[in-house]
Amino acid sequence: MQRNCWRSQNKDLVRSRLNYIPLIKKPRVRFAPSPTGFLHLGSARTALLNWLFARHYKGTFILRLEDTDRERSTQEAVKNILDGLKWCGLNWDEGPEAGGKYGPYFQMERLSLYQDQAQRLVKEDKAYRDEGAIRFRIPPGDTRFTDLLRGEIKFLNKELKDLVIIKSDGVPTYNFACVVDDSLMEISHVIRGEDHISNTPLQLNIYDALGFTRPKFLHLPLIHGSDGARLSKRHGPTTIQDYRAKGFLPEALRNYLALLGWSPRNKIEILTTEDLIRHFSVEGINRSYSIFDEKKFTWINSHHLRMLDDDTLAREAVPFVEKAGFKEITEAGLRNIVGLLKSRLHLLSEVAVFGRYLFPGEIDYPEEILQEYLSDKDTILWLEEIYRALEGVSDFSVKNLEDVFKRFIQEKNIKFKAIAQPLRVAISGMTVTPGIFETMAIMGKELTLKRLREGLEKAKKMGTVPRFTERTE
Ligand code: GLU
Repeated sequence: MQRNCWRSQNKDLVRSRLNYIPLIKKPRVRFAPSPTGFLHLGSARTALLNWLFARHYKGTFILRLEDTDRERSTQEAVKNILDGLKWCGLNWDEGPEAGGKYGPYFQMERLSLYQDQAQRLVKEDKAYRDEGAIRFRIPPGDTRFTDLLRGEIKFLNKELKDLVIIKSDGVPTYNFACVVDDSLMEISHVIRGEDHISNTPLQLNIYDALGFTRPKFLHLPLIHGSDGARLSKRHGPTTIQDYRAKGFLPEALRNYLALLGWSPRNKIEILTTEDLIRHFSVEGINRSYSIFDEKKFTWINSHHLRMLDDDTLAREAVPFVEKAGFKEITEAGLRNIVGLLKSRLHLLSEVAVFGRYLFPGEIDYPEEILQEYLSDKDTILWLEEIYRALEGVSDFSVKNLEDVFKRFIQEKNIKFKAIAQPLRVAISGMTVTPGIFETMAIMGKELTLKRLREGLEKAKKMGTVPRFTERTE
């Protein structure tokens, strides 16, 4: 039923690809980062697609740390990667901290396993010693494999060089350790970036020489920047930590990164994590590269922010509000604030920016805004009267404020429109805010009056009342 929806021109390819998805045996997939820095968008996307594959096909997601580059691997980077994955919500079933019967999950703790396999190859003359190192002998012929995304790929072995598999210090090289581990850990599908395609024929020859079953391979197209070049630092921040600090939610990251490698059949772009798991399919993985677009990511984030209830949103916003310097805000106060601002937010960090006037302390009144809305003498006089009227109001509920203003404009015979925008500017320093009564209700009497007073003082200090003067002359 579902399969009929797939674009018909791809039917044959899809049908052949489906043969590779183990519907009976549970798949085992892995994410195998080298702990040399932070978790980047590209690796996080690889981890996510492996995780979705495992969760959708009810398999196992394994985390393995490829720490054999001893100069570049650090404990700190291990922590960065584990923390990054945890924040992304990509929980692993086997690996560091989780354990598992195929461990250890750090390659440097598995040296004897690589030695054993390498010795076996030497004994069988499939590898040989070379200046203290062990080198693998590439056999003649060619190497073919079927990539689940690209179909058959063929390499001529004469273009491959005999490669060192164990260095003279006893540490294995990536291509060897990776094959030994993927075999011993019974990995069924290797899903990784296409920058590893050139490693695949070397690895396949090692599988064959060791007599291990080859896993299925799927190489993901890389993520590119807006200029079409492979995504790198020069396009902007690339680590997960950067985006977390900017105010993105992990659920939005999962949503956006998933779309950077895969397309759902129904083309819906806002997907919860349950949606992603349910709709994920290997057939939907994109065959061409995708472009990282922070604007689109931000748009997706705004939808996920809106999906949060006010309590959760307030909790998520706390570190951002604190970072902006507002430490004394209560959780209840913040809940009201985020509730008021929610529909306009794109990033968690915007709570303290868009809602600056809702927090204590001085705010800015940009001069051009004062000029435009608070430079008219009549307006200032009306606002001063409003100030006095509000001083006598104790119930700052939306309903009561509406009544107070209704009476006020009737008595004075003015239009609400004439004072609404100046009032907004006076209490917020901004031209766009949520509804004026909702805003005042959340601010409460004390802060509303304080802001209104400040706004009027700033306007008067400006000392120019050009429109008024022009009119009366
Ligand atoms: N440690 C390798 C990397 O981070 C893993 C590649 C693979 O998935 O085989 O690129």
